Amino acid sequence: MKCSDCNKELDYEEYRSSKDLLGLKLCEQHRLRIEKLIELNETPIEAIQLYYALKEEGVSAMLEWWDGKKSVDIAISRVKLNIEIDCEYHMLTHEQAINDLEEVMHSFKNGFTTIRIPHVLVKYYLKETVFNIIGITEGLKANIKVI
Ligand SMILES: [Zn+2]
Repeated sequence: MKCSDCNKELDYEEYRSSKDLLGLKLCEQHRLRIEKLIELNETPIEAIQLYYALKEEGVSAMLEWWDGKKSVDIAISRVKLNIEIDCEYHMLTHEQAINDLEEVMHSFKNGFTTIRIPHVLVKYYLKETVFNIIGITEGLKANIKVI
């Protein structure tokens, strides 16, 4: 079993604690780094899982990318795509909804596309979610070329 980040061979203990705490395969160094990131940014665990699932498919993304105004859960800067994980989709208030829309408007003005992904999709449809995100990046890449 190898670390999803650095490919280092994991010993059983490293594997167990990473799997139990994060649902991922990470060496101790990378597990601690991710735990710190979560602590600092309140990053949803699904964002971390999606990040590593994308990495596995060869998509290079960034976690907690600072866009100048706020920290974006996942950014794929090559195609200017921001991904936010929605944790309480079912409890979206109208204030949250209008704030989200405003954020999307600002990022569009800066040439960024923002998509919001309900955390349950990462939990139950990780493969399909990754597949669709790759499709979106390909679409964006094609559009960038046209411009
Ligand atoms: Zn590692």
